[in-house]
Amino acid sequence: MNYKRFLFAILILLIIVSGIYFIGRETPNNSVSNPEPNNSEVTKSEGSEFLMDTLVRVRIHDENSEQVLEEVLNKLSYLENIFSKTIEDSDINKINSNAGVKPVEVNEETYKLLEEANRFSEITGGVFDPTIGPLVSLWGIGTEDEKIPTEAKIKETLQKINYKKIKFQEDNKIFLSEEGMSLDLGAIAKGYAADYIINYLNEKDVDSAFINMGGNVSVHRDKVDGSLWNIGIQDPVRSRGNIIAAVEGEDISVVTSGNYERYFIEDGVRYHHIINPETGYPARKGIISATVISNNSSYADALSTSFYILGVEKSFQIAKGMEDVNIVLITKDDKAYVSEELKGQITFTVDDLEIIYR
Ligand code: ADP
Ligand code: MG
Repeated sequence: MNYKRFLFAILILLIIVSGIYFIGRETPNNSVSNPEPNNSEVTKSEGSEFLMDTLVRVRIHDENSEQVLEEVLNKLSYLENIFSKTIEDSDINKINSNAGVKPVEVNEETYKLLEEANRFSEITGGVFDPTIGPLVSLWGIGTEDEKIPTEAKIKETLQKINYKKIKFQEDNKIFLSEEGMSLDLGAIAKGYAADYIINYLNEKDVDSAFINMGGNVSVHRDKVDGSLWNIGIQDPVRSRGNIIAAVEGEDISVVTSGNYERYFIEDGVRYHHIINPETGYPARKGIISATVISNNSSYADALSTSFYILGVEKSFQIAKGMEDVNIVLITKDDKAYVSEELKGQITFTVDDLEIIYR
């Protein structure tokens, strides 16, 4: 009897869950909203979808907001299908399974993404390394098999990591020159995707838009009422949704890398998903959250991950040498190191941080 009740309960649960799922998909809050306060006949569409390992939320303000939203979600799912490590016939998977065997012809976007990734490897002296795949798998952080690998295994796996062994060939062909190598674009793919979407919004002359890919935020133009967007920076210590600061701007991207999303703790030590390719271990340079603010979301994404690994001094050195790259680095000892260019643009909302402009 209990068994029957149990089945019945499961059935009801399934109906509810699939109901929510379909409502979520068929009408992704795609509503034409009331006119904005200034009475301009601006329409607004919002949608969300689980893509690139995260909940992606998009808000479009435009006469054709519904079509634009649909096209944006389509483009994102196209990119997901070619970049994902877990989708079997994705470009990245094809490259990985042919490592040390043969070059693979890929879509133009994949080729460009890898060229871009390569630039960041050069800029960061190899700290950013898209061939980090074997180490990511070895640690398995965020998966069921997460564990501290043996020293020997880490050493052995480090041999497989080297961005210089990504060979760029004619006709969009990519070759990983050694067997056992594998690409992981988790630290840049979302940024690249955001830029790709912003590009499209510019082409279509869309009025205004807000894209949030699990904490990677990009805004297109200003808000419809002409005011600037306010983008929050997640508090690395308090729970999700609490912010430490808000950044004002238009046409900007704000991306944060932290140790608080994917990690496990063993013997009081936190092991997280940003790996230093010099040591093979999760990065530990005193930073608990690194935010990069830039026009370009690929920059913001790749560099926030890199700065997390590099620590305060090296990060400022690199950021100062680049145009349009401003940073907020939060350290374990409750300090916020902030690019002085952000003065007036950033407002801190907590009072337990010592703020140091540089
Ligand atoms: P998130 O994806 O959680 O927003 P990041 O942008 O910081 O965070 O990217 C972290 C991901 O990048 C890891 O899950 C892994 O896939 C990949 N990664 C880890 N270490 C490196 C590294 N040194 N260089 C390039 N990619 C890395
Ligand atoms: Mg990143």
